[in-house]
Parts: sequence; structure tokens; C-alpha cells
Amino acid sequence: MNFDSMWTTLLPIGRDPRTGGYRRFVWNAAEQECRQWFLAEAAQRDLDARTDQNGNLWAWWGDPDGADESPGAVTGSHLDSVPAGGAYDGPLGVVSAFAALDLLRERGVQPARPLGIVAFADEEGARFGVACAGSRLLTGSLKPDLARALVDADGISYAEAMERAGHDPTRIGRDDQTLEKIGVFVELHVEQGRGLVDLDAPVALAEGIWPHGRWRFEFAGEANHAGTTRMEDRRDPMLTYAMTALAANKRARLTGTRATFGRIEVEPSATNAVPSRITAWLDARAPDQGALDQLLADIGRQARDRAGRDGTVVDVRQESVTPMVAFDAELRRSLARVGPTSRELPVLPTQAGHDAGILAEAGVPVAMLFVRNPTGVSHSPEEYAEPADCHAGVEVLASALEELLAR
Ligand SMILES: [Zn+2]
Repeated sequence: MNFDSMWTTLLPIGRDPRTGGYRRFVWNAAEQECRQWFLAEAAQRDLDARTDQNGNLWAWWGDPDGADESPGAVTGSHLDSVPAGGAYDGPLGVVSAFAALDLLRERGVQPARPLGIVAFADEEGARFGVACAGSRLLTGSLKPDLARALVDADGISYAEAMERAGHDPTRIGRDDQTLEKIGVFVELHVEQGRGLVDLDAPVALAEGIWPHGRWRFEFAGEANHAGTTRMEDRRDPMLTYAMTALAANKRARLTGTRATFGRIEVEPSATNAVPSRITAWLDARAPDQGALDQLLADIGRQARDRAGRDGTVVDVRQESVTPMVAFDAELRRSLARVGPTSRELPVLPTQAGHDAGILAEAGVPVAMLFVRNPTGVSHSPEEYAEPADCHAGVEVLASALEELLAR
């Protein structure tokens, strides 16, 4: 299968030989090289390749501009990574898209509408902090002025980085012309958990994306000497934070939700000082909005209770929230039978955000396919899929597209 040779070409780009992790950040050198790879694959297949005004890459089989064409069936994913990310999150969906197209041509499929392959820009938001920036700009859910002003760790703005890579940042924003070409979108993605391992199946359909968000917790106390201040005289916000992190973990385990404090800042951050302030960011996710609201209410209440005992103050602010995304149920039913066996494809929920979710919010009928990940680990070099499962993913994707291209 052509999958293997494409995979091998893409694999070394942007990989740290020391850790095996990737640093493919939007508009950096490694990501640009991935873009070149995409364009070369498109050219090899005589596809109509374009970069839209938001930096998303497209390769079309058939004419998406044709006046009497139905809007296209689109598949693909993203090529960028998180810091020290794995090889599969994103690229698996793009490589599988090209391999599925090859398979359709081998099968002699004559599409009744155009087939588009897409690589969305900046899905992970690793460099500028906003996930799915390329698809959000496309649908208009990320405002262009806001995007242009985002700044990376080196103080380079999104606009500057884009310009240096040869794209015009003044043209970013909602792009109806491109949106209208997407009649349906199928994203294949490596599974970011162990659902398929437990089900003993190589490929699943996604049910939808859990609502999720980020909250900033400010714990304020009083800085003081670590030696001379008696334990009972302290107002130590580190304790309030630590208890809150433990409480969040317990609440999430008890309620089948997710709560993670993955980042904190400490002031003044001195070994010999009681801190004056802890800023901690909570990432929380739940199967539905009610459960997410309840989780946040419970964590907030426990944080305030503890603050009362520590003589500290807690302030909680929501930084972002992405509502529940339910993928198209009818589309899922119609694709459930395209699996490798007569058995229907299993259906799994997902706790991670994807470009597919952004398109679904914008009203595009969307389906997602997951390929088994034996480690269950993602956003790490440990992320993996067996070659046989990758091939099964390509077969299922090709059959799904064949079904969609006939309509
Ligand atoms: Zn991804």
C-alpha cells in the first residue's frame, strides 16, 4: 500500500532524534517542510492543490469550482504537532486520505462529486495558544484581528510568522468560498485512548466530542519567610492549590469526567519563601454540559472551603469553553457498515477537540474515524498504531468516501 512509503517520507520531518518527539509548529521550518510534502503528494496525483487564505492546504480530485457540481466530500486532518508530540496525531489522517484516494482510483471509482483532501493549519495551537486556528478562521469562529495579534514564546505575532512563511495575514478570516465546497467531512485520527484496545477492533466511528474548557484559578495569600514564619501563622496559597488539585482529581474520578491542572505559576517562586500567589490552569471535560457545570461547581466550592481554612482567597475565571459537539447521526449510521467485517463499526466518544468539531459547529455534516492506538498514549512519542491497523483505517476511509462520492 502507498501508505507505507508516504509515512516513511513524512516520519523524519521535525523529529528530535534525542527524544523521538516532534516540534511541527505552525509556520516553523518543520511544518513548512510538511507542507511541501503535501504539495508534492498532490502534484504526483495530478490533484488541484491550493492554499486557502487561512493557510489550510487543499488537494482536489475533480473540479470543486464547477458550477453544477455538488459540494465535495472532504477528508484529511492536520500536520502540526504539540511540543514533543507523536507521529500519528494529525499526519495519520492526511496520509490515510492520500492512500484512500489511491485505493478509490484502483477500484475504478468515478466520483459523482469532487473529493477534497485537507491539512488544516495549526490544529494543536502549540505556538500561539489557540487550538484549531486554521479551521476556526475558516468558519469565522476565530476573529482575524484576534488571531493576528497572538504572540508566540519568542514574541513573534501570528501575522508576522505567517508573513515570513510567505502568506498574506491581511486576508485571514471567514472564507465562504472554501466552506461552500465542503459538503461533508470525514476526519480519520489515531485514537487518543484505549477504547479500541478494549473492544479488540482496529477502527471505530466517533460519536461526538465532549464539552471542554479551561479555567484560571488564582490563589492569593501572603508571602513570608519560610524559616521564621510559624506554621500556624501562614496564609499559604500553595496549600489551597494542592488541595484543590487533589479534590479535582477525586471529583473527576468519581463522576467519570476529566480534570487536570497541567500548568501553574508561583509568585515569588523562591525556595525559602511562602508564596504569595499561585495561578493554576484547569482543563476540564465531561460527557455533557450539565456534568461539566457540576464538576466546576464542585471544584470551586472545595477550593473556597479550603481557602477559608488557609486564610487565602480564590478567584476562578473561565478562559475558554467549547460546547458539546454531536456528529451527524445519520451519516454515522450510513458509514457504520463500511468496516472490514460484516460487524458494524464500534462507536466511541472523544474527549479531545478536533477540526472536525469546528466544522460540525459550523453546520457541516461530519464523521470521524479512529484507528486503534495500543499504547493509548497521545501527544507523546509513545503514540502508536500498528501498520496493519493503519491499513485497515485506509480501507475503511476509502469505503466511506466511496459511499459519499456516489451521492
Ligand atoms: Zn489531532
